[in-house]
Amino acid sequence: MVYKRVVIKIGTAVLTENGSLAEERIEKIANFVANLKKANIDVIIVTSGAVSAGFSKVQLDKKILANRQALASIGQPYLMSVYRNKFDKFNITISQILIIEADFDSRKRTENAKNTVNVLLSNGVVPIINENDTVATEELAFGDNDQLSAHSTFYFNSNLLIILSDIDGYYNKNPRIYNDAILQTRIYSVSDEELDQTVSPNNAFATGGIVTKLKSAKFLLDRGGAMLLASGFDLQTVEKFLLENEQISGTLFKA
Ligand code: ADP
Repeated sequence: MVYKRVVIKIGTAVLTENGSLAEERIEKIANFVANLKKANIDVIIVTSGAVSAGFSKVQLDKKILANRQALASIGQPYLMSVYRNKFDKFNITISQILIIEADFDSRKRTENAKNTVNVLLSNGVVPIINENDTVATEELAFGDNDQLSAHSTFYFNSNLLIILSDIDGYYNKNPRIYNDAILQTRIYSVSDEELDQTVSPNNAFATGGIVTKLKSAKFLLDRGGAMLLASGFDLQTVEKFLLENEQISGTLFKA
């Protein structure tokens, strides 16, 4: 096995369907993670979807920051209860880690978090990380889980980040606008021009878009890591990649 420890980031579009949590899809992800664990791969999840899950319970105006933070606070336990329910089916214990960007600025806090993650993983637990939205004001926050997941990958000693999105990879131009856009299966480096593109999330709740994914890729490429961007709707690509070392789709960012 090439990758012994992976971070899997699951985007809002994958976790939700028509404004509710996509429970069937979450169960498929739990099943997939169970298969990885059987192959002795450590799995850390970074999850989005708390604001969206909160909104399905209480409809607050999302344009107001305090409301979005309240929605995250409502949605987080709801989201975790769905994860727990699905992972229970595969006899996997999950844990919750809430973190903000500033935590990675502090060596001591990073060290503490790393030790906790190691204890969890060595006991077969799957840590599920999200940004601590209640305290994460603009200066303290990543603002998007793509970058949180890239930092988690590096600081928690993994060399592969898998981003499960509503798109099956990185195209040479926005595939929602151009129907002749071509999927790029391998990217060796990310240029500054690519990072200057306009942010274009596909989902009303998504905060990232392709640019934050490219930033994450660059962060990892600069540090000797790798990132696979693949569809979260069909897990065959990531399953084959991790278990059989074969890339049938998706974009692999690797130097
Ligand atoms: P997530 O919720 O999974 O983080 P986002 O909606 O934030 O997903 O980002 C993925 C979206 O980025 C795609 O669905 C697509 O609409 C958009 N996008 C813009 N440019 C590109 C590109 N060159 N390649 C792939 N996706 C792109």
